[in-house]
Amino acid sequence: MNSSEDGTFSKGILTRFGNMDINPSSGILNYGQGVFEGLKAFRTENGKILLFRPEENAKRMKMGAERMCMPSPTIDQFLNAVNRTVHSNKRWVPPPGKGAMYVRPLLMGTGICLGVRPAPEYTFATYASPVGNYHTGDLNLIVEEKFRRATPGGTGGVKAVTNYATIYKAITEAKAKGFTDILFLDAVAGKYIEEVSTSNIFVVKENVISTPPTNGTILPGITRKSIIQIAHILGYQMEERAIPVEELFDAEEVFCTGTAVVINPVNSITYQGRRIEYKRGAGTAAQNLYEMLTGIQNGRIEDEMGWVVELN
Ligand code: PMP
Repeated sequence: MNSSEDGTFSKGILTRFGNMDINPSSGILNYGQGVFEGLKAFRTENGKILLFRPEENAKRMKMGAERMCMPSPTIDQFLNAVNRTVHSNKRWVPPPGKGAMYVRPLLMGTGICLGVRPAPEYTFATYASPVGNYHTGDLNLIVEEKFRRATPGGTGGVKAVTNYATIYKAITEAKAKGFTDILFLDAVAGKYIEEVSTSNIFVVKENVISTPPTNGTILPGITRKSIIQIAHILGYQMEERAIPVEELFDAEEVFCTGTAVVINPVNSITYQGRRIEYKRGAGTAAQNLYEMLTGIQNGRIEDEMGWVVELN
């Protein structure tokens, strides 16, 4: 769907997945004026299709649009677009427990702008793809010291497309050294852990689960928010606080959370040449949280929080 001059969006159309026309002087291509979202739809044992917290994605996109000087679709328009996209691809939603349908809403400046300023027109597009389960437990992270992901006052707290451009080089170098992903540190002191390239991080010690606060440089993950609530329900003590990188050496477990990875236990972290390995598997906090979260997402555990929305 496209925006008109007053910043409101049209009703939108459903089309076959394919290329789109875009002007070479559009805001998105030249200045990265874009934000996106990622959410999943799950098939349940009794044949329903459930979306996990889609309104949270709609709200986060609105926040991101505001930061990037863009108008955004209304919450209803966002939810309707997601619903229609999943509905029209219903047969591709994987069977229960075999993955999910990943939905990608993308809002971008498609109007022409030669100078750096907000584009005069916007396009909101939503597409989807089936994805498998991604719970490898084989994450070997390296703490990144040379590159920073986000600075205070920047766009790290929203899902701007340009946030990912800044980390290509860090990821490429880490992979070349045999690591699976990177753990970024804060840009000011270079001392506190922030997040992994596309997921939030949690550290466990003696039944206390800690995660860095979302203070503008970390993406406020929807899985992160859900895990904090589930941790309380399961009786863990939960702390949102600045975590010095040195604490990784005393931690019992470390895990990452995100829509794509769900909850992924970390196998090892390397910092300044020191490597530490963590507990994984049955009985860990990561496993207990995973069981409850995926149970709710797949409709196996009653959703007392009202997180899942049935596709209509
Ligand atoms: N941090 C970053 C940088 C991400 O790209 C993501 C994925 N959206 C997350 C954290 C996790 O967020 P969510 O749980 O909403 O997927």
